[in-house]
Amino acid sequence: MIQDRESSVIGVWERRFCVTSWCTADALYVQRKGEGLDVWRVTEKPDQPEWLVASDVPVCPLCGHHLATQANLDEGLDAA
Ligand SMILES: [Zn+2]
Repeated sequence: MIQDRESSVIGVWERRFCVTSWCTADALYVQRKGEGLDVWRVTEKPDQPEWLVASDVPVCPLCGHHLATQANLDEGLDAA
């Protein structure tokens, strides 16, 4: 893995969570595809096949719901 200090966010998987009750996705990993691109790579595990999602914020590829961050969960989301 090549570490690029200038764009540390690119190439780093971020943990996100789908909070839709009927959706089979739960914890997902996301990362922006490139600097300034509204395209996200989303996967269930970093070594698994990934989806490409075009959106300004990461969304669940299965249900289209915005994905919550760990901080969102800690704050307590409004029940969907
Ligand atoms: Zn979902």
